[in-house]
Amino acid sequence: MKLRRDSILLALFGDLFVNLCVLISLIFIYLQLRRKLNSDGKSYKKSVIVDGLSGGLLGVLLMYFSIQVSTETLVDLRFIPVMLLVIFLGVPHAIVGALVIIVGRFIFGITVSAAAAAIFMIILIVGFMVIDRFFKKVDVDLNSYKKGFVMILFSNIVFSIIISVIIEDTDILKILIPCYWIISIVGGLIAIFFVDYILKTQYLLMRYEQESTTDFLTGLNNVRQFDTIWNTLISEATAKNERLSLLIIDIDHFKNVNDTYGHPAGDRILIELGKVLKSSSRSFDIISRNGGEEFSVILPDCQQEQAVVIAERIRKSVEVHRFKISSTDSIHITVSIGSATYPETVADTAQIVGIADECLYKAKRTGRNRVCTSY
Ligand code: GH3
Ligand code: MG
Ligand code: MG
Repeated sequence: MKLRRDSILLALFGDLFVNLCVLISLIFIYLQLRRKLNSDGKSYKKSVIVDGLSGGLLGVLLMYFSIQVSTETLVDLRFIPVMLLVIFLGVPHAIVGALVIIVGRFIFGITVSAAAAAIFMIILIVGFMVIDRFFKKVDVDLNSYKKGFVMILFSNIVFSIIISVIIEDTDILKILIPCYWIISIVGGLIAIFFVDYILKTQYLLMRYEQESTTDFLTGLNNVRQFDTIWNTLISEATAKNERLSLLIIDIDHFKNVNDTYGHPAGDRILIELGKVLKSSSRSFDIISRNGGEEFSVILPDCQQEQAVVIAERIRKSVEVHRFKISSTDSIHITVSIGSATYPETVADTAQIVGIADECLYKAKRTGRNRVCTSY
């Protein structure tokens, strides 16, 4: 008897452990794929279907690696994907996942155990919804572990009751139930930690990627991104023999603005100027904040004459715009703009930026609030 008990115990632990390993590795692969395929964000509805279906399929796969405790009965950790969906994405996702698991269970045979498994899933979903609501009301700084722990306990109680009804062999039950409790608590908490960790890491990576190319104040390209795009466009322009123009824009007497109205007001103006530049250039022009109060607009496939027209449009738009410096007050500012065009005004691509800069200083020297270009 003792020998039989030990061998069952070992087999159970082994199988549940394999189940846990499958769960963790598939979650990892799925979350990586999800990030790759989802870089531009997807709609909530699409997420309910895609993530819900994937969670459900994961549950079905867990059944494939489950422990067959009787000819009909499968024991596995399929409740965990449903729980993760509730905790990290939402109840609608979990309902889709649970439906897939219910249907998937019947593929393994239309049996009493499959019907019991369907009832188990339905009770789980209802219970998880209640627990989720309760925690949202009570716990302000939502703790996924606390919520998850309560869900695991609930799931284990329901599981123990249902399995006791369908399995008659008390020897097996005496071993199976404690084993299941241990593995599901440990596994469930590990799975929550794992998903939480990966989602946080992915979020940080996304922020890092965004911040390394974006100016934190205006949301425009930063100077590093300007360089990357500029080099690409120069190669393209020379290869395709296309024209390429560059405008360098600098706010006039911005130091005075800061000194008079304060640095925060200056920052508001920089943000607002970014918007004015966007609205007065073409949709495919590339706008960057190259540093301080200096901006640039790259005009792909744009000849000099048109570049000057766009620069003038920008200059005038800024001149007439009311820049808010507080909730009640606004002021006017002006900008000076230097313009250069390859190959019309600059034959050597390496000198375009330098020439545009020279033109900007010519605009400053000759009175500001003007556009200058070289011929
Ligand atoms: P000019 O017409 O010759 O360009 O005069 P200016 O005062 O604009 O030029 P200057 O280069 O002397 O001063 C630039 C000022 O821009 C100095 C600095 O206080 C301000 N500035 C640079 N970066 C920021 C920023 O991020 N926020 C704010 N509020 N001000 C900034
Ligand atoms: Mg300036
Ligand atoms: Mg400057």
